[in-house]
Formats: sequence, C-alpha cells, structure tokens
Amino acid sequence: MKSPSFDYIKPASLNDVFALLAQHGDGGRIIAGGQTLLATLNMRLSEPQILIDINGVPGLSGISLQENCVRIGAMTRHSEIEESSLIAQHMPLLAMTAPHIAHKAIRNKGTLGGSIAFADPAAEWPCCVVALDALIVMASKRGLRRVKAIDFFLELYTTAMDADEIIVACEFPLMTATTRCAFDELARRQGDYAIVGLAAVVRVEQQTLNDLRLVFLGMGNIPVRAYAAEAALEGKVLTAQTLAAAKMALAGELHPVADLYNSGPMKRHLGAVMLGRLLEKLITGAH
Ligand SMILES: Cc1cc2nc3c(=O)[nH]c(=O)nc-3n(C[C@H](O)[C@H](O)[C@H](O)COP(=O)(O)OP(=O)(O)OC[C@H]3O[C@@H](n4cnc5c(N)ncnc54)[C@H](O)[C@@H]3O)c2cc1C
Repeated sequence: MKSPSFDYIKPASLNDVFALLAQHGDGGRIIAGGQTLLATLNMRLSEPQILIDINGVPGLSGISLQENCVRIGAMTRHSEIEESSLIAQHMPLLAMTAPHIAHKAIRNKGTLGGSIAFADPAAEWPCCVVALDALIVMASKRGLRRVKAIDFFLELYTTAMDADEIIVACEFPLMTATTRCAFDELARRQGDYAIVGLAAVVRVEQQTLNDLRLVFLGMGNIPVRAYAAEAALEGKVLTAQTLAAAKMALAGELHPVADLYNSGPMKRHLGAVMLGRLLEKLITGAH
C-alpha cells in the first residue's frame, strides 16, 4: 500500500517546530528517523496532513556526560548509542540492549526520541528508560519539562507528552560503583520485535541485591515494572529459595495478554525464565 499524500516541512529551529505544531494541530506530525512513522503511513494507520521533519533542528542529537547524568539527545540514532564508548562505560545497559533493536539499517536511522515518543510496549528503549530511572525531557513554547520515565508511559501508545511538546532528550542518572545491569529478550528471529524482554538494574553489595529495578517489555500495554518480584529479592542473597520466591511473586503480578504466536501463560512462563537468567548474570557479572 502507498501512503496518503502529505505536505512536508523541515524547520531549522525549535521555535519554528513549536509554531508549526500550533498552526497544524492534529494534522501535523513530527518525523524523526521515520522508521515507524513511514510504515504506519504506508499501512494507512495514520494520515497526517503535514510531516514536520526535526532532522534540521540543531541541538537535538548527541551523547554527553553531565555532572549527575548521561544526557542523550532525542535525535541520537540507535546505532550511535550502540557504538558510543561513553555509553559503554557509563550506561552499559543501553550498550547491551541496542543490538536487539531491529536490524542495523533501521538502527542507523531510528532515534531514541522516536522510540520513546511512539511508546511501543514491545520496544527496548521504553523498558530501559524505566529501568534506569531516566528523565524524559520535553520542550514546548512554554519551556522545558522533565517527567520520570515511570510516569511517562500512560497506556498503549499513549504518553504524558502534550500535543504542543516534543521530546528533546533523555537524562540517565549516573550509576554507582556497585550498580550492575543486564538485558535480554526472546525473539523469534534476531531483529524481530521481542516476545518478552527484561531490563534489570541492581546494586550488588556483598552478594546482597539492593534497589532492584526489573522492567519487562512485551508483558503489557506499557513497560511493566515487577514490583513484587523486586520486593521478594530486596536485601537478599540470590539462592534457589529467593529465586523461587521471586518467581512466585512475579507469577502473581504479570498478566500478559496473548500475541499472535504466544498465549498469556506462555509469556508469563518466559518472563520467569528471563528473570532467572538475568539474576544469574547480575550476580556473576557475566554478559
Ligand atoms: C522492520 C522494523 C523492525 C523494527 N524492530 C524494532 C525492534 O525490534 N525494537 C524497537 O524498539 N523498535 C523497532 N523498530 C522501530 C524503530 O526502532 C524506530 O526507529 C523507532 O521506534 C522510532 O524511531 P524513529 O526515529 O524512526 O521515529 P519516527 O518513525 O520518525 O516517529 C515515530 C513516532 O514518534 C513521533 N516522534 C518522533 N520523534 C519525536 C520527538 N523527538 N518528539 C516527539 N515525538 C516524536 C513521531 O511523530 C511518530 O509518531 C522497527 C522498525 C522497523 C521498520
């Protein structure tokens, strides 16, 4: 299928973007990497009158180490995150997750901001920003606004972003020396959207698990934080008993719906498998 016809404009400043959003209202749509939007246009799931291309807006791209955080501009491509030595050193969860996103050609074009804004429950970055307790930075003509990632994803493809806002960056709090992280997912083929994935962040001190953040993708309409499993493991050493207790807690809090290939109970089972694997990695430090 071909997309419906649309106008196209490439503004050169954020103020121009805000003016265009105000002028076109619902008919205007931001385009970043285009890796999701163009597919939805071609499938006629979306019919904007004008695409507002933010590739020419300065200051939206790049990775920097700040006093308290790593800041990644919204227009930073998935592959830039994947290849960044700064990310490998300071936000390894993102480095280990990036290769799971689609295929290289898509990672070269797709952006962090586009993935966060689209809020696909099977996407990797929404899961990671919640696990890393990141702030989503949005801008509008009213100024800048920061929202915690856990509060940003509201419902299926629905976020806390207002119609006149765009995402300009994500800010990731720096990890402590004892913080460890791990990511893994199960997909039918490398590059496919995952059936189930898990991002895990924890402080490990004398083998004890502290401040766990376990966030699943593919388990609900938004990234799903496994609070009960986290509580079952908090302050504990990982043993067969504590793992069994965490899996039991997990089974009570995950309520995935079936997708085209997997039933809800199957996904819940896969979630428990992922949990066991990732906890093992976190303790041994293996990747
Ligand atoms: C075949 C295929 C496989 C894929 N597999 C995966 C996968 O396994 N995992 C995964 O996570 N993704 C996958 N993707 C999606 C890909 O990662 C996209 O790049 C990403 O989801 C969207 O980023 P984008 O920059 O291309 O956004 P676009 O397609 O340009 O935009 C997507 C949406 O976000 C809005 N938007 C974009 N940027 C901003 C912004 N800064 N502020 C506000 N709104 C904005 C747009 O208006 C649009 O509604 C796949 C895509 C394809 C085509």
